[in-house]
Amino acid sequence: MSDEYRKPGARRVGQVKEVTSLTNPIVKDIKGLTSKKEREESGTFLAEGLKLIIDAVELGWEIRTLVYAKAAKGKPLVEQVAARTVARGGLVLEVSEKVLSSITRRDNPQMVVGVFEQQWKNLGHLSLEKGQTFVALDRVRDPGNLGTIIRTADAAGASGVILVGDCTDPFSLETVRATMGSVFAMPVYRASADEFVGWAKQSGGQIVATHLAGSVDYRTIDYAKKPTILLMGNEQSGLPEQLAKAADRLARIPQAGRADSLNLAVATAVMLYEARRNFLSLEAR
Ligand code: SAM
Repeated sequence: MSDEYRKPGARRVGQVKEVTSLTNPIVKDIKGLTSKKEREESGTFLAEGLKLIIDAVELGWEIRTLVYAKAAKGKPLVEQVAARTVARGGLVLEVSEKVLSSITRRDNPQMVVGVFEQQWKNLGHLSLEKGQTFVALDRVRDPGNLGTIIRTADAAGASGVILVGDCTDPFSLETVRATMGSVFAMPVYRASADEFVGWAKQSGGQIVATHLAGSVDYRTIDYAKKPTILLMGNEQSGLPEQLAKAADRLARIPQAGRADSLNLAVATAVMLYEARRNFLSLEAR
């Protein structure tokens, strides 16, 4: 990987380049961002789609490189975001559809792709406020689940998603796709299980953990009395004892039928909408 992507702060000074070769070194670096190691080293990630990229830039996310297909050249919104990228010292690449397909690994790629700087929040700086709901995920493994949860947390008005332990990368292409843009709206925190438990104890919030052995019906909990952290278990093994013990309430979603459990993203959505029941209305948007 070239130095441009290795150093999180490093950028080329605003330029527009035309690229048609799949072996171009900048294209190779961008393609490398499908690997977690390269994303971590560079502190960057890929996002696809013009609207999503415009929203991200408006929300203050730093764009390092904008890539667009020749066919998108001259479209006013593409030109606007290209000008903003250059103004912020980023690089703009005009590429063939073949190059875009190889970057996104799709036959019919989006016309516009952006390379953004990752943003992680620190639990140490997080103090909870009344009416807030957070989702904490223990070792979530599936990128589609994580993306769906970030999207649902955004829709339900949650204040952030906390990744506990070794989780799948929220900045992988698959997760970013599944968030449908919400990755740019939802603060993402990360912590070890010990850090999470230590923080939660002094946070002033209540941890409502979901567990298949939970004795409390999730609909009987008062989610408005304190800021709430909904704690969800790993897809395969559920919540470990350490985290279950740290909870103020162990909630269960009643089930009928033969299914052992709900899918993690579905269970999170059910919990989020119950916890946010008194904070959401059709008029508020
Ligand atoms: N075999 C795992 C177990 O024994 O916990 C199943 C994990 S389930 C697929 C993933 C997570 O979704 C659980 O850890 C829990 O947080 C949540 N979940 C799924 N169904 C649930 C239910 N009926 N009640 C409460 N939580 C549930």
